[in-house]
Amino acid sequence: MLRAHKIRLNPTLEQELYFRKATGNARFAWNWALAIIKEAGANQAKLPSVNDLRIKFNQIKRIEFPFIMETTKCAPDQALLDLKQALSNFFNDLKKRKPGQKRKDGNQVNFPRFKSRRKGFGSFYLANDQFAVKGYEIKIPKLGWVNMTEQLRFAGKLMSARISERAGYWFVSILVELPELISQAPERVIGIDVGIKTLAVDSDGEGFENQKHFSLAQKKLRRLSRWLARKQKGKKNWAKAKLKLARWHLRIANLRKDALHKMTTRLAQKASTIALETLNVPGMLKNHKLAKAISDASFAEIARQLTYKAQQVVLVAPFYPSSKTCNGCGVINKELTLAHRQWKCPSCGATLDRDLNAALNLRDEGIRIIGA
Ligand SMILES: [Zn+2]
Repeated sequence: MLRAHKIRLNPTLEQELYFRKATGNARFAWNWALAIIKEAGANQAKLPSVNDLRIKFNQIKRIEFPFIMETTKCAPDQALLDLKQALSNFFNDLKKRKPGQKRKDGNQVNFPRFKSRRKGFGSFYLANDQFAVKGYEIKIPKLGWVNMTEQLRFAGKLMSARISERAGYWFVSILVELPELISQAPERVIGIDVGIKTLAVDSDGEGFENQKHFSLAQKKLRRLSRWLARKQKGKKNWAKAKLKLARWHLRIANLRKDALHKMTTRLAQKASTIALETLNVPGMLKNHKLAKAISDASFAEIARQLTYKAQQVVLVAPFYPSSKTCNGCGVINKELTLAHRQWKCPSCGATLDRDLNAALNLRDEGIRIIGA
């Protein structure tokens, strides 16, 4: 089982300069290879393989791009491997549709683009033989030991690391391979209804709230956005306001992630199998009223976390009418809208919380699917 731990770094000025150079070298290699591929494409020539470009890059880098040698060799090398992956994702996706035709779900993969410093520093990669971790420090080639704000949470084989920048902070995300955990959760199925007003409700009736401080944080976010809008673009105070806003965004993202982790850990302890609906998220994002709620609830993140925390996750098809079916008698109420918070069955008269009714249906559907 692979787990990643993202830790904020405390680099010295000199170390930060190295990070900037290394991310710059990664962008440089990506853009160098992409330019050659795009040129071949524009001339209707056969596209060179990224593998051949990697060999060429390593042959010429010492003479033609000496600055590349100032940082880890992993930075440009992994950027080229990332480009190879991005191209193969694009061409694989293209095979599934006609050229020029867009996918209905809006999930088509775009052709890789040039990376611009204006979009942020980006990141660079370190293979497992290129770094070491000891206590509060990580060792990086051609740089030495860099202080970390916390210790690595997992003990296991270090697989790789990636250093990135956000909101003026630098982070390292360390990927660790852990031995498989044997879950102690009781052998049973629970359903969860990922909510709009609440984070989620499970079929035991336990609700997980969108935390209060989260909506308070959102209020401050709006205030900071207005503050930024009043500043003159490009001026010193504008840059200050922009950084403050970016840091607040980061804080909210962390609050959300924290709430989701607490919830998914609790759910994985409660039952061996968890059934949830696969929402058609891109489809729902077109519905503007729901858009904010859905992105807040971070549905995809919940599914991702449960997949590695729970013994088994059952995904129920998005067209299964979990909200509109009565868990008591099975009648389907087509009249039900999002405004109805309470489920009142027109047939058997059952009255219960709308989300609990949906969670119970998802549990039963999950039991049916796995044949338990
Ligand atoms: Zn009923």
